[in-house]
Amino acid sequence: MEYPRITKSALEDFSVKPNLQDYQKIYENFSWDKLAQELDWFDSEHINIAHVAIDAHLKTDRKNKKAMIWEGKKGDVEEYTFSDLSQLSNKFANVLVNKLGIQKGDRVFFFLERIPEIYIGILGALKAGGVIGPLFSAFGPDAARDRLEDSEAKVLVTSPALKKKIEDVIPELPALENIVMVQRGKEISDSNDLSYEELMAEASESFDIVKTHKEDYAIMHYTSGTTGKPKGAVHVHEAVLGHYATGKYVLDLQKEDIYWCTADPGWVTGTSYGMFGPWSNGATQAIYEGGFSAKRWYKFIEQRKITIWYTAPTAIRMLMKTGDQLPGAYNFDSLRTLYSVGEPLNPEAVVWGETIFGKAFHDNWWQTETGSIMIANYPIQDIKPGSMGRPFPGITAGIIDDSFNEMASGEEGNLALRPGWPSMFRTYWKKEEMYQSRFQNGWYITGDRAKRDNEGYFWFVGRTDDVINTAGHLVGPFEVESVLIEHPAVAEAGVIGKPDPIAMEVVKAFVSLKVGYEPTDELQLDIQKFAMKRLASAAAPREIEFVDSLPKTRSGKIMRRLLKAKELGLPLGDTSTLEDD
Ligand code: ATP
Ligand code: MG
Repeated sequence: MEYPRITKSALEDFSVKPNLQDYQKIYENFSWDKLAQELDWFDSEHINIAHVAIDAHLKTDRKNKKAMIWEGKKGDVEEYTFSDLSQLSNKFANVLVNKLGIQKGDRVFFFLERIPEIYIGILGALKAGGVIGPLFSAFGPDAARDRLEDSEAKVLVTSPALKKKIEDVIPELPALENIVMVQRGKEISDSNDLSYEELMAEASESFDIVKTHKEDYAIMHYTSGTTGKPKGAVHVHEAVLGHYATGKYVLDLQKEDIYWCTADPGWVTGTSYGMFGPWSNGATQAIYEGGFSAKRWYKFIEQRKITIWYTAPTAIRMLMKTGDQLPGAYNFDSLRTLYSVGEPLNPEAVVWGETIFGKAFHDNWWQTETGSIMIANYPIQDIKPGSMGRPFPGITAGIIDDSFNEMASGEEGNLALRPGWPSMFRTYWKKEEMYQSRFQNGWYITGDRAKRDNEGYFWFVGRTDDVINTAGHLVGPFEVESVLIEHPAVAEAGVIGKPDPIAMEVVKAFVSLKVGYEPTDELQLDIQKFAMKRLASAAAPREIEFVDSLPKTRSGKIMRRLLKAKELGLPLGDTSTLEDD
């Protein structure tokens, strides 16, 4: 089904003018060098992400502006100005350098709840010249061990509750020298562990930020592990230019904004756009410690008067699942623009956003490896629901064939980018060969398949590994899943290729139902018919299986490789990022 375009009219209600006003003109005249001049460099070669994000504002009237409004699970609120974050991160940098002997390039990892100390700690470690690695607090011991072992982290910042989870694997980490415990009133059981609060109480508020080179390593994020074992993508201090530029032109962050990014700092979205993008643009961030809850989220938007909201398709689908009545009880007038990333955003969800909030979700595409948004729907452009939008002005994206040659508009192929943007990963940690293999014929190969239409909008087809080859046709799971979730009974769908002696593969769909629907044979048939009417015959699912829920990574991505492995009775492979039921 073709969805109508959603016009950009939503913006006209606001006095705030979008940062990016003429995509074409900016795209043609874009220069990273020019944009770099808007940032506070030490000199032409040296820059530090934490300095640009926080301390640079101290020279301006934003010094005492709120940088972070944090709301805990229990409703307690803490507020920090740019000046507060500067002083606290200075203290932590002093702790790392003077007490724990951290030197430039040493890895400092964080295994913490979404509490203010993770933000302060990351900023402090960057100021100290360390390479930060945030781990998602829901990880189990194996996931945490794999990443701490691979990165050879020297310091781990954690909390009493989380340390307990990984206690058994700590002896397996010879490189780990110190554990710093953020107590927040809790006891430390191991006398070898250090108290964050005690260390901070003794530390000085002034610190000379390490004058890191723009190419010095700064951030390590392990990929989500959707298709295989997570890889440590390494980013450098210059990446902040990418965070800043896309924060400005895609998220349209302005000084007056109160911005909410729902991602945890354990994922790249939670640092690039949960810290550096918004802060380098001088925006105020609201952070909610708790997990997903439709009521709490709607209330948070209303109470905190959120203007810009960045979230993920899985969260949007969960909101949709709770129905259209609930949001009616809240006021969303403050919202100016909504964004989504992480998985393909079904057109149904874009349209739903416009109905419920009066604003459509702006889908955008990027990866841990790219460090910042590469392809986006901009506030100043119409949205074609189901499309990821157009390349960021400083980025050249292309569709290439399997011999790495560019293909014409309308053809489906490998999504690739011309390397060289500031936030591009510089290696996979200790996997340089794998890193090199991602570059071919002057392109960075993303591992996704897509097509570009004649207006330059990109359309996601699927991950290369997930594309289904059925009777000579290539079918992307996204297209099929998007049709399935249009059926009134379907909450979520995951589609795979099931081996077939004749067709090579056939399309099989795993479907979870909305509350109130029973998994009957009639319903199965009805969904199948519904899909057949809307899809090419090769793409219509031959089989539909009802499941209670789909396997997802902790960042909410559907793990189709697990659906497939289960279907075939094969080993599940790396499941360290798999969400619990
Ligand atoms: P791994 O590389 O370990 O398998 P992952 O690819 O899920 O994990 P991330 O870097 O977190 O790890 O995710 C990036 C991928 O997510 C993209 O390559 C793409 O497949 C998908 N993705 C992100 N945003 C979008 C989007 N807007 N539309 C479609 N797909 C998206
Ligand atoms: Mg990937």
